[in-house]
Parts: sequence; C-alpha cells; structure tokens
Amino acid sequence: MSDKEKKQNKVFLRTFGCQMNVRDSELICGLLQKAGYRISATEQDADIIIFNTCSVRKHAEDRVWSLIGSYKGSKIIGLMGCMAKNYQEKAFERDPSISFVVGPQDIHKLPDILKKLSVKSLLERKIWETDSVERPEEIYHTDFYQDAKHAYVVISEGCCNFCSYCVVPYVRGALRHRKHKDIMAEIHQAIDKGITKVTLLGQNVNAYQDGQINFTKILEQVNALDGLTEFDFFTSHPKDANLEFFKALHGLEKSAKRLHLPLQSGADRILTLMNRGYKIKDYLALTDSYRKIVKGGLLTTDIIVGFPGETREEFQETCAVVEKIGFNAAYIFKYSSRPGTEAAKMAGQLEQDEINKRHKKILDLQRAISKKLRSRHSDAKN
Ligand code: SF4
Repeated sequence: MSDKEKKQNKVFLRTFGCQMNVRDSELICGLLQKAGYRISATEQDADIIIFNTCSVRKHAEDRVWSLIGSYKGSKIIGLMGCMAKNYQEKAFERDPSISFVVGPQDIHKLPDILKKLSVKSLLERKIWETDSVERPEEIYHTDFYQDAKHAYVVISEGCCNFCSYCVVPYVRGALRHRKHKDIMAEIHQAIDKGITKVTLLGQNVNAYQDGQINFTKILEQVNALDGLTEFDFFTSHPKDANLEFFKALHGLEKSAKRLHLPLQSGADRILTLMNRGYKIKDYLALTDSYRKIVKGGLLTTDIIVGFPGETREEFQETCAVVEKIGFNAAYIFKYSSRPGTEAAKMAGQLEQDEINKRHKKILDLQRAISKKLRSRHSDAKN
C-alpha cells in the first residue's frame, strides 16, 4: 500500500435494512481488512464512510440522503447496497459528494475501487460498479463476524417472486441458490472460529434448492453439526412452507422454535394485487398446521397497511385475521410507493393520513395481542 493509500485507510460502515445487509457489511469489512484497510468504530475517525443501504421503503432512502449531505464533502463517501443498484450513476447527480457507487452483486470489487480512488484527484473521484449478476463464492469466506458466537449465513440471494410492492427482485436480481457444499464449508469454518449459533438467510429462504438438497435437508444437515447449539432462518415465504418443513422444525433439537411468516394482508383481493401467491384460507391452514406440529412455537409476521386500493373493509379483514391468528409479534409497515414496481403504477394510492390512521389502529391491536400472549406465557411458566 502506498503512503497516500495508508493515509486513507480507515473505513466506517453504516448499515441500513435487513439481515442480508448486516451480513453484507460483515463481508465488506472482511474484504477490506484483508486488503489492508482498517475498520473504524467511529465515523469521526474514518476517512471513508460507506453507506450500505436499503431501498425497500422511501423513508430509509431519505435518511441516507440526509446523512450523506451532513458530511458536506469532508469524507470520501461510498453508496453501496440496494440504493446503489437503484440509482447507479444518477447517485452522483443527487449528491456530488459521493465518490463511488457499488451494487449488491459487486461488493467484491470494493478493495480495487478504493485503490483506484486513492490515486485520483478530488474532481475525478467518481466510480460506479453496479452490473454484476452474481457474487464470487470467495467473498463468503473472509472470516469476519461481528458477534463472536453468532453468524449469519446467506444460503440464497435475490428473489423471483415479484411481489408488486417490492424492489428486491430489481435490485438484488433473480433468485440464486448457493451450492450446499459451499454453505456447509462456510458454517464449518465459522464453528472453527468459535461460532455456536447460525441464522440462515435468504429473501425467500425456504425456497432453497441445490440438486436433491431442499430447505428441510439443509436444516437437517445444520442440526447435525458438532459445535453448533442453535440455528434459525429468515425470511420464509408462505407459498414455499409445507408440513415437511414444520415437522423438521419440530423434530430438530437445535432449531429455534419460531417462525416468521409474512402475511402482508388479510384480504384476498389485496393479496392478489400484491402477487403474493396464496389466499387467506391457505395462510390460515398453514399457521394452524404450524401450531399443531411445533407446539408452543412462536409465530411472527409482516403486514403492509394502505396498499393501493385497500378499502376500509379490506383493512378490517386484515385486523380480523391478525386477531384470529394471534401473532406473538408483527412488523407493521405503512405502504411506501417504490418507483419501478407494479404497485407504484396502480390506481387508488391512499392519502398518507388514512395510511397513518390504519397503521396506528392495527399497531395498537397487535400490541394488545402480544401483551396478552406474553402474560399468558409467563403465567404458564410460573
Ligand atoms: S418475496 Fe416478495 S417481498 Fe419478499 S423479497 Fe421477494 S419480491 Fe420482495
């Protein structure tokens, strides 16, 4: 590394969004450390600030733009993750203080990009790499984990479901399954470093398939690993959930007895508009089976309120389903229109006031349900 590069070798990462991004930030830290950069614990201390971003909601994007603006050109700024893919070179127009833009499938190029930037003058500092389709397997083996005991392990990338409100298939690309032997090698490597718990990750984790190895098979193999005490996974799609999967969850002693199964809406017409691929009766049957098979297992969900055209009656249907199922917890989101998605083009976009009212109502309902279930659980323990 040259003297000039050494002066610029402290990097601070700010991570937004889901666990996939948290894992990506670990991969970035691992890659940069291997290339001789230091990861800084504070932004004041760093020369380079990297924003690893999320495009799922407008609010998260607005926050990133505002934070980037607050540096006023005092640092080298990089935009990575979903916003990078979404904006590409237009990010430089939006904020000229950005020096590099790197998409989710291009993170392996980061050490080279920083090297190139270090020899460019301030005005020339504009590099973007957002076109790769796949990541090289090596990036998953950099041995960097934020937690000494717990590791996130990506088993699949991207998504082909095209839910009409979601940007993930556009920014993360089509569903790709990592090879099962590579996943197991990564977990063995993590266990050798002292990791005892893993979370298997995928945008649609339970659709995993590599030859004869489906999601249930990979759960069985992870369960059999010496040195591992617990594992879980995130995020499951209802259309890929089945009894075989629930039986594995029940029978595998190291699997955490909890399931996150996004519902999104309790109205069939809205589920169709969302392109979710199931009806309410299917979802109710699934959750019923889960509770019968995985006795005492926790059940959590995601819900979107204020989807275009959602009537008051349809919103009430969602409230009724939430009451009927009794989720232990629910992440309730206000619908956020994302450019380029099908839902953004739909008629009947709701007023923000109405979305806010519905959001509060269902949030209050879910809080009361969660509280009741918690107290029932603690009574049963005492
Ligand atoms: S399953 Fe739907 S909501 Fe989830 S990442 Fe894929 S397109 Fe987005």
